[in-house]
Amino acid sequence: MALSEELARIGPNATTRPFWEACLRRELRIQRCGSCGRFRHPPLPGCPHCGSAESEWPLVSGRGRIHSFTIVHHPALPFLAEAVPYNVVVVSLDDAPGARMISNLLDAEPGELRIDLPVEVWWDEAGPDVVLPCFRRAR
Ligand SMILES: [Zn+2]
Repeated sequence: MALSEELARIGPNATTRPFWEACLRRELRIQRCGSCGRFRHPPLPGCPHCGSAESEWPLVSGRGRIHSFTIVHHPALPFLAEAVPYNVVVVSLDDAPGARMISNLLDAEPGELRIDLPVEVWWDEAGPDVVLPCFRRAR
């Protein structure tokens, strides 16, 4: 299942731009506090732990494990009618402790998803200049 281009029209803002620009280069960069060093995702303007506005964007491997998942059967929006059933996964990233990404696992049928399944980032070219970080089973 490829995500609809319509879903990808949510444009970046000043806080999320470094993340999305890295995605265009097929690089997964996760925001890390420049003061206390904690990772966070989705990006925020300030650290929820120490309040610092300093942040950095280290490159991470994109490898992780499924922390949680659900299977969507009802299309919440009309353009998703052809996509159901599809999965939504929460991925814990191996080298960004504390950061979890909500995404899709592209190469699994609904009955094949498992908690702790090893996964790796896989880039979904959703449209012109839109590259989404999705996941596939770890190779
Ligand atoms: Zn901090």
